[in-house]
Amino acid sequence: MRVANYCPVCGAPTVMQERFGRQRPVCSQCNHTIFFEPKVAVVIFVVEGDRVLLVERANDPAKGTWALPAGFVDSDEDPRDAAARETLEETGLTVEVTHLLDVLHRPDPQGLADLVIAYRARVTGGDLQAGDDAADARWFTRDVLPMIGFRTTEILLGRWPQDED
Ligand SMILES: [Zn+2]
Repeated sequence: MRVANYCPVCGAPTVMQERFGRQRPVCSQCNHTIFFEPKVAVVIFVVEGDRVLLVERANDPAKGTWALPAGFVDSDEDPRDAAARETLEETGLTVEVTHLLDVLHRPDPQGLADLVIAYRARVTGGDLQAGDDAADARWFTRDVLPMIGFRTTEILLGRWPQDED
């Protein structure tokens, strides 16, 4: 459970009170109610023919395993833009997001994000080169997949045939 000991508005200590149907931190001075919001990430399923684009994690959690390109959405960012940005940062490829695949609620016990928005995208340019928190970026065919480190990637790869355009 998340905690907030101090008010983000005035800095005074909070107390737990019933507000809007559940216990929430409430400021003891200015009465501000703190609502915890879900952390949102995007994951991008890029396919070319029978190959899918995966990145090797350079850092923990799951360092050394492979996953679909992914990352957090900035607070003022369109998630489709976040998908294109993360793919470019991690793989060097520019992509066009074609459609929404799913919105997954915390399927990852590592708890990196509360909501994961999964998009399908296709490559429009760039040169394949790993960057940011990706140690490597490669295309893999369905029958020769590397060790996958994230549940969201497993779920989406498992549905691959159905997601084929
Ligand atoms: Zn306050």
